[in-house]
Amino acid sequence: MQPVFRFAPSPNGSLHLGHALSALINFKAANKMGGRFLLRMEDIDLLRCTEEKKQAILDDLTWLGLTWEEPMLYQSNRFGAYKRALETLKQQGLLYPSTASRKDIQIAVKDWQAQTGEIWPRDPDDAPHFPRALLKAHEVESHDAAWRLDMSAALAQLASPLSWQETGPQNTDRQSAILANPEHWGDVVLARKDYPTSYHLAVTLDDAYQGITHVVRGQDLFYSTSVHRILQALLGLPQPIYHHHRLLTGPDGQKLAKSKQDIGLSHLRAQGITSEQVQQSLKITEQDLSTFC
Ligand code: GLU
Repeated sequence: MQPVFRFAPSPNGSLHLGHALSALINFKAANKMGGRFLLRMEDIDLLRCTEEKKQAILDDLTWLGLTWEEPMLYQSNRFGAYKRALETLKQQGLLYPSTASRKDIQIAVKDWQAQTGEIWPRDPDDAPHFPRALLKAHEVESHDAAWRLDMSAALAQLASPLSWQETGPQNTDRQSAILANPEHWGDVVLARKDYPTSYHLAVTLDDAYQGITHVVRGQDLFYSTSVHRILQALLGLPQPIYHHHRLLTGPDGQKLAKSKQDIGLSHLRAQGITSEQVQQSLKITEQDLSTFC
């Protein structure tokens, strides 16, 4: 089977050196394996993902020397598929609506902690698990309700524990699979109030839809893979091989943030820096690509 790679930026900001690293590792890995390279615009947030930002991403990637298959996929054209998947999960009794706001969640968790003296569980991004039991009053189906996965009910449907094949640097023993822990996320949002999907649902469905065999992305998304694995299991989707690559760090050792203008690709270009210089500075070595063979 021919390998299929993808780079999947969210055009709610502009690309920086960290994105360039991710795009180039995918592109080079696809070339090395004689595979295909796809670009997917993850533009589900219709308000923030403007035409200008999408065009700027295409310009930056072209400047970097990348080419991709046309037509490329825009997630904003896939809302029908996301709705159908949500319907399937609803019919299985695995989703529930909630109109609770971030503030409602915060207050409920704070009150509970004060009353019990215990710590409420938090997800890998350090957000509190959705406190469903404390917020039942907010379970109303309406146009401003989000849909959440009932994680306990979803886990109860699984025949066996979930795992994934990981070829990134954090898996030192390449032979063994990584155990997925979707329960660490609690009841994740699968459809937001303002649009009929979420990052987790859209990325999982589209990796399957596009026949992606190798999901190569930054280490910051390593833990999210547990959510993607349970969605694959519930929706009967194939599982790709995953590779979570190293992240670039700034001079302060912190992860590069989108807001840091000075590492933006368009900014570097305007400074007269060439794409060859950018590629050199990323130092993509044989070691970064060694598992793609
Ligand atoms: N769209 C996501 C982002 O820009 C990446 C999705 C993925 O690679 O799985 O952070």
